[in-house]
Amino acid sequence: MIKHAEFIKSITDIKDAPDTNLPEIVLVGRSNVGKSSFINGIANRKSIARVSATPGKTITLNYYMMDNSFYLVDAPGYGYARRSKSLQQTFIQMLLAYLELSPNLKKVFQFIDFKVGPTEDDLEMYDALLEGGFDVSVIVTKKDKVKSSLRSKHEKMIKDKMNQPEKIFITSSQTKDGYDKVYQEMILTLE
Ligand code: GDP
Repeated sequence: MIKHAEFIKSITDIKDAPDTNLPEIVLVGRSNVGKSSFINGIANRKSIARVSATPGKTITLNYYMMDNSFYLVDAPGYGYARRSKSLQQTFIQMLLAYLELSPNLKKVFQFIDFKVGPTEDDLEMYDALLEGGFDVSVIVTKKDKVKSSLRSKHEKMIKDKMNQPEKIFITSSQTKDGYDKVYQEMILTLE
């Protein structure tokens, strides 16, 4: 697991990205999906991840360096107070434009709430990422919030709605279920 984690900086212009050429994994998801909890959990820190700001007209990317060897990059949460469809699409396009400009971007983790399942916003984002040719893994959060007897049903529902994602990890920041596998997936990115 990760031994050292450090918040590096927040940027609003991709030209201010760290110039270290380390590989980057970008995290995208709705506000409240559990991205901060995931960063803190995987980094074994109580509160390295800042609370993401309400998305506005700019996109802020927060860079966290892990084990001096790669970055987790937190992108702003979408669908906070449900925006109009056109605003949501503008947001997705802005985010994709950033991602396309990131020379060190290796992978995108798209976060989905296990209990809520993929929302319309989530599916729009996911489709746009796949269309953009990004390597996307799905991180499902809050496994502990669903009764164990209902978990396989939720899992199937999510996989069906997302058209059977190639890589999907069911996790909980409370129990750290699934974190080992996500860590392995991160390590694959470095190879
Ligand atoms: P973010 O907006 O995506 O960064 O979401 P946060 O990490 O701030 O989480 C939003 C809320 O969900 C907080 O109240 C967290 O405590 C809660 N949460 C996040 N992950 C989990 C989880 O795995 N299990 C449970 N039970 N709650 C979680």
